[in-house]
Amino acid sequence: MKDKRLYSPKYVREILDKYGFKFSKSLGQNFLIDGNILRKISQGAGITKEDYVLEIGPGIGTLTEELALSAKKVVAVELDDTLLPILDETLKDYPNVEIVHGDILKVDIKKLIDERLGGGPIKVVANLPYYVTTPIIARLIEEEYNIESITVMVQKEVAQRMVAPPGNKQYGSITVFVNFYTNPEILMTVPKTVFMPRPKIDSAVIRLKIKKDLPLIDRKAFFQVVKLAFNQRRKTILNSLSNNPWGLDKEEIKSLLKKAQIPSDKRAEDLKIEDFIQISETLPSLDIY
Ligand code: SAM
Repeated sequence: MKDKRLYSPKYVREILDKYGFKFSKSLGQNFLIDGNILRKISQGAGITKEDYVLEIGPGIGTLTEELALSAKKVVAVELDDTLLPILDETLKDYPNVEIVHGDILKVDIKKLIDERLGGGPIKVVANLPYYVTTPIIARLIEEEYNIESITVMVQKEVAQRMVAPPGNKQYGSITVFVNFYTNPEILMTVPKTVFMPRPKIDSAVIRLKIKKDLPLIDRKAFFQVVKLAFNQRRKTILNSLSNNPWGLDKEEIKSLLKKAQIPSDKRAEDLKIEDFIQISETLPSLDIY
């Protein structure tokens, strides 16, 4: 292990000055400079010497270094090419780290896992750029790669939405989506002071453990029901589903809800995942596909 660790604010400043690095707001560049938080993220993700880790957005490599100390191998995908020479220098003492230049929304993740991460199952760890949090998480869980868990720093409100129980005003379509595919748990909230530069918003680290046995249902119908229901979340489920692309009128929706044993006057935020499944399972029997 190196005697000097990357996260020291003095070293971070030195290296950024040396390369004349300019922070990009649009790429969500807020780098972690607190050893305690870095350790807690790696421990929370449960990283051991057996693990292959995919990191998204290594920045100058502070989290990458922490992961490299605990994992078997880390592959880190970074979009900003001005960070590549910096990462070459900061991570040169870690032979188990590989940097890939690319956009995580476009790279062939399956190929990455098969060719560079031992075929999986892998663990994903990231301090995510907030502007792409939802599309990144959606891509990772929806496409069913060989991923065991995703541990990410996200905006605090987003983390709270992901774990909100039914009946809570933060409970929404993202909650249903995340809980359909994973078991989410907030590991910690994180103060603004541990970043350089400091962001305006509070953050939290959330771990999503990917579920192995998903219910065998028509997912397209299920997520369409969820989307319609939350599009007009103040309305009753009867009214929000009555405004549908399936050509079903209010009376037909009423009988569908009755069949699914869901009271018509409930609102989307009162319904559990099983209730949405129940409704979507009733749809095909009405021959609308
Ligand atoms: N992991 C570092 C840390 O904790 O200090 C940096 C985190 S910073 C919040 C987000 C990083 O993701 C930046 O380095 C940024 O350039 C990179 N990034 C932004 N969009 C990306 C994308 N679509 N694909 C890969 N990396 C991206």
